[in-house]
Amino acid sequence: MPWYRKLHWQIIIGLTLGLIYGVIAASQGWGQFTTDWIAPWGTIFVNALKLIAVPLVLASLVTGVASLSDLRKLSRIGGKTIAIYIGTTAVAVTIGLLVVNIMKPGHRVPQEMRAQLQETYATRAASGAAAARETQERGPLQMIVDIVPDNATTSFGDNRKMLQVVFIALFIGIGLIQLPADKGKPMLEVFSSLNDIVIRLVDLIMLAAPVGVFALIAGTITSVAGDDLGQILELIGALGFYSLAVVFGLMIQMFVTYPLLLRSMSPMNPLTFFKGIFPAQLLAFSSSSSAATLPVTMERCEEKLGVHEEITSFVLPLGATINMDGTGLYQGVAAVFIAQALGMSLGIGAQITIILTAVLASIGTAAVPGAGIIMLVIILEAIHVPTEGIALILGVDRILDMLRTATNVTGDATVATVVAASEGLLGTPNLDESADQIRTHR
Ligand code: ASP
Repeated sequence: MPWYRKLHWQIIIGLTLGLIYGVIAASQGWGQFTTDWIAPWGTIFVNALKLIAVPLVLASLVTGVASLSDLRKLSRIGGKTIAIYIGTTAVAVTIGLLVVNIMKPGHRVPQEMRAQLQETYATRAASGAAAARETQERGPLQMIVDIVPDNATTSFGDNRKMLQVVFIALFIGIGLIQLPADKGKPMLEVFSSLNDIVIRLVDLIMLAAPVGVFALIAGTITSVAGDDLGQILELIGALGFYSLAVVFGLMIQMFVTYPLLLRSMSPMNPLTFFKGIFPAQLLAFSSSSSAATLPVTMERCEEKLGVHEEITSFVLPLGATINMDGTGLYQGVAAVFIAQALGMSLGIGAQITIILTAVLASIGTAAVPGAGIIMLVIILEAIHVPTEGIALILGVDRILDMLRTATNVTGDATVATVVAASEGLLGTPNLDESADQIRTHR
């Protein structure tokens, strides 16, 4: 197969062209045209992916659970998964803290820039703070209460309620294995067939990925820069060192932590792993949403990395909702950066508080664009740094969101691979892309 027909190259081309177009559009004042005629194609693409996320999780998890021989296996996999998820996030936040404390980007923000940024983003920062406070005021067990819905249709109707869908699927799957095989068979066949259909649909939607990614990137640049490219460049200049600290931290997590984990806990070659999930990373980068990327992450892990469906169907939806290593790392860097910029020094106690709260805040962050910065408020309050400080970093948030989402998705896939290996459910990777061709069987 020639290189340009390979999916990841096509997505890279779409992404690059989107970037070039976005920059030209911003400098030529084509903002309105882009918003009206280009960006909607990106939205359609992401909507199509989100549309199949609920049926995919439901069908694959029900069939996954129903194929388990005993339920103890499920709780074992669950326990392992959550422990590794929390562990990797804590490592990520610690890396972020090390980087930000060494680089000290907050000391480089000029006084007048600080005042200007705070003034520009004050209103947006205040509304973010209000949203976070609402989450914070809920009782300690509310998180568990939220997982158990009182009506299934409301869970299926809201993509942010993915944990409820996971719960319902587990519930149905557990019910199914309690039945004699002949009684459960018809229902199981329905779910299994639905699962196969949705997996094919992922391939179909991904045919449009290059165009979708082009539109997403062009739309993002337009929404960030408007018709004034100079302004965003100025902002990146002022916050360049901060952005660099975030990027540097994310790179360490991505290229040191994950490969080490893969090497020590699975037979997976890190290079094969990255090749296998690359399209999912590109999509996460373009859409800034782990939830929208979920169908592709699941498909790549199963079909390319050889992770058994029993693992992907449970570990990945859970990860997309609660495991956000990139977000946690970013929140750690951002919190310390704001404190530095405001001239506050943070002791070791405050740094430990950041690790604890950032792990929790990243768990509570929704898998949608821009959610990470809202939960940052909780961390700032815990270390007594004024939440208005968020205004300092809002301007470059969307760009960093792309990178942290790619890290989040990579983290989920790493844990899925490691858990699969520990359960003997990791097959041989197969990076052959000709298997992805769309076929019709009738
Ligand atoms: N956009 C991120 C995600 O979906 C969440 C965040 O804002 O950090 O994974």
